[in-house]
Amino acid sequence: MELDNKFGERFLVTLSKNIAKFLKTTQYSLSECELCKSHHLIHPLLCRHCYEDLPLFSYQHLHKNLLNWPAIDKLFPHRAFEQLLCLSPYVTPFDHWLKQLKYQQRFELADLFGFLLAQLWRNQKLGNDDSALLSVPIHIKKWQQRGFNQAHLIAKAFAKRSHLPYLDHAIIRSSYCESQVGQSGKQRRKNLKNAFQLSKTINKWPSHIILVDDVITTGTTTNTICKLLKKKGVKHITVLTVALTLP
Ligand SMILES: [Zn+2]
Repeated sequence: MELDNKFGERFLVTLSKNIAKFLKTTQYSLSECELCKSHHLIHPLLCRHCYEDLPLFSYQHLHKNLLNWPAIDKLFPHRAFEQLLCLSPYVTPFDHWLKQLKYQQRFELADLFGFLLAQLWRNQKLGNDDSALLSVPIHIKKWQQRGFNQAHLIAKAFAKRSHLPYLDHAIIRSSYCESQVGQSGKQRRKNLKNAFQLSKTINKWPSHIILVDDVITTGTTTNTICKLLKKKGVKHITVLTVALTLP
């Protein structure tokens, strides 16, 4: 009887391994481009042609930093971060994709964002020396309601592809506030003042932190976290987001 159980167990393990292998090899052939339905894919959701058509920021004269663009520099006058890298302005298809990830739980889009951010990271020849990733957290109550944090999913997908270490529990959101949409900058700053806490388990912070979020708008949330990190001796902070909301 015991022999039978062992045989059954081994059979199930082999079967599930083969199913996983099959799914992996057919993933690309079964899926189609989100935008044009083509099967010539560079990612399970995107083809080469549509990738080249995406409204991505050009970094050609910006020295690896969107803040070197005067119009964007003006948006974040009191920032506590040194570098800003975003894929695109908050326009189609990114606005649509970000909403689908957040409100329709299309988690495969987090993988697409991770893929696109890793392309940007590679194209700009950015290094990994004493660098680590963080993502902007949401409060545990919101996490329980929604079931996930989209910034965490994007950071995880980016970490996998960029081989950067991800400190996924290094920062927590300790106070709960309702959606900040429609609140003034002053009110937001007041709400955020004591909203975040850094983990006490990290003795030595890396000199370079890459802070990942889905969208950057006023930068108030981002700045609050950056100030805490600077107090811990972090020298250089890169804010890395999928989209940037332009006024
Ligand atoms: Zn396409």
